[in-house]
Amino acid sequence: MRIEQLGEGAPEIAVVAAIHGDEPCGVRAVERLLAESPAVERPVKFVVANEAALEKDVRYVEEDLNRAFPGDPDADTHERRLAADLAREVRDCTTLSLHSTQSYAEPFALVDTVDAIARSVCPYLPVSVLVETEAESDGRLIEYPHVVEAECGLQGSDSAADNAVELIYGFLEATGALPDDEPVAGYDQNDVEVYRLGRPVPKNGADDYEVFAENFERVPEGEAFAAADDRELVADEPFYPVLMSAYGYENVFGYRGERIGVLDG
Ligand SMILES: [Zn+2]
Repeated sequence: MRIEQLGEGAPEIAVVAAIHGDEPCGVRAVERLLAESPAVERPVKFVVANEAALEKDVRYVEEDLNRAFPGDPDADTHERRLAADLAREVRDCTTLSLHSTQSYAEPFALVDTVDAIARSVCPYLPVSVLVETEAESDGRLIEYPHVVEAECGLQGSDSAADNAVELIYGFLEATGALPDDEPVAGYDQNDVEVYRLGRPVPKNGADDYEVFAENFERVPEGEAFAAADDRELVADEPFYPVLMSAYGYENVFGYRGERIGVLDG
């Protein structure tokens, strides 16, 4: 785990990159931020979490770090020990954790529950979608208070890294870390649509997968939205696909989502 800091003092603001080693956008953005070294009014901690996985360009070395929280300093696996270290590093911080997906090119935000932190941070992020993950947060960093996750775009793309830079600046603006005289254009909070993450869509051990549906676009009841080998999956009730892709996850396509409304301040 690599830790850097902008500004003086004990940080109450943190940016976390590389929870997953095959999602380099966050690290690229953090390196750009550190090179640009903007003047800050509050100190900010930057954490590059899973350096071992990053080096190998794999999601994780022994187990998924984002299912390993709270972790244990004496655990058998690298990620479970790392989870304990990372949880300690961000314990007193409002935290932005940067990810990328194989499912969606536009950046969007995720929180465990839509609370005061979500309402104050998300309007400043370059996102039009916020996903509430409450029922599916087990073992993830997002279940800690004051953590906002961002999906920056498609894994390995330059645009995901560019989006990650914008997300960090928006986050620093939202948390009062940037001086007032350099405002970052925020998005109107009415534009942030909120979805709730629901049941995962399991894969059931086929060889070839396909997804027909678009993320955040309603799938009506009776519509085929994916296929596993030659078998089509048909919606038994309407839903909004979230984080859904053919090969993004090993055991699930992604999740059924429900549209809740728009973010209100
Ligand atoms: Zn990730």
